Amino acid sequence: MPADRRAERQRALRAALESEGLDGLLVTHLPNVRYLTGFTGSAALLLIRAQATVLVTDFRYAVQAPAEAGDAATVEVDQKSVWDRLGRVMSGFPQGSVGIESHSLTVKDAERVAGLTRSRIVPLADQVERLRAVKSPEEVAAIRAAARLAQEALAEVLPTIAVGQSEREIGATLEAALRRRGSEWHPFPTIVASGARSALPHARTSARTVGRGEWLLLDFGAQVDGYCADLTRTVVVGARADERQRAVYDLVRCAQGRALEHLRPGMSGREGDALAREVIAGRGFGEAFGHSLGHGLGLEVHEAPRLAPTSEVPVPQGAVVTVEPGVYFPGWGGVRLEDDLHLGQDGPELLSDGRTELVELV
Ligand code: ZN
Ligand code: ZN
Repeated sequence: MPADRRAERQRALRAALESEGLDGLLVTHLPNVRYLTGFTGSAALLLIRAQATVLVTDFRYAVQAPAEAGDAATVEVDQKSVWDRLGRVMSGFPQGSVGIESHSLTVKDAERVAGLTRSRIVPLADQVERLRAVKSPEEVAAIRAAARLAQEALAEVLPTIAVGQSEREIGATLEAALRRRGSEWHPFPTIVASGARSALPHARTSARTVGRGEWLLLDFGAQVDGYCADLTRTVVVGARADERQRAVYDLVRCAQGRALEHLRPGMSGREGDALAREVIAGRGFGEAFGHSLGHGLGLEVHEAPRLAPTSEVPVPQGAVVTVEPGVYFPGWGGVRLEDDLHLGQDGPELLSDGRTELVELV
């Protein structure tokens, strides 16, 4: 049984709220609700006050919510309106300043909350996300398990890939292998992109069939205990790589290797991103690397911190991030390699296998 961190997380959140002069926080972003209480349902209004944690949900979760939350929250189930119930819960506490998660509430719901209470409503961002950016050993273990599962699924599927198969067919085989090996769900739509379509960083898996000697880019994930892994491999199908393919591949691999080796906590997102970007830009291909280097991984597949040219936020010790440089040439194709890295106390630790030597499926 892994350690129960929920009380510790709520304590840390309360301390953060207090230091900002707030009397409470209404948590509505579902991954944050899960992080603080363990509740995994789709309807949740979580009020955190100094002395109380109240989870309001609806009839569908009358059994599940108390079972999952246990001692971590007082559960209130409302048959009619969770908002009315929240209003009654809020009026049971003294007035003060209550934060809302501005990245998760619609404008309409924010107005609704303001109408429920005479407390001052303060739009906030990322209070819980900042805590989530630092992973506990159990969280790291779950991401490691998800990465391992994803790699095993890929290893099973790669030898079955052949010229003439469609991206969707390959995607289906991969997704089936992921699920069979225990992935709870696909954390994001699997990307299988062949030939020139590999130059689309967020390609949608299509009916296109893979031709001989073409790139095949696979960007896929797995989820264990709610925690996500995110991997990308790019392989050549049906032939040996030609000279240009090899040169582009080696460049991306070199950029990724530099970032994996030198990324450290305390660097800003921009500095982390630059580790790989300098390698690619140094060869004159800066324009072809049009996205950021990586993102945090956890209960969400994209979370804090970001490794991006626009981020001056330091990467905290304990973060888990993807390192995924890519180089894309429209009409020709692209290469992306993505691994998952934990910035732990004892230095950076790869959670995925980092096995990025060029694979030619011949
Ligand atoms: Zn990915
Ligand atoms: Zn990613």
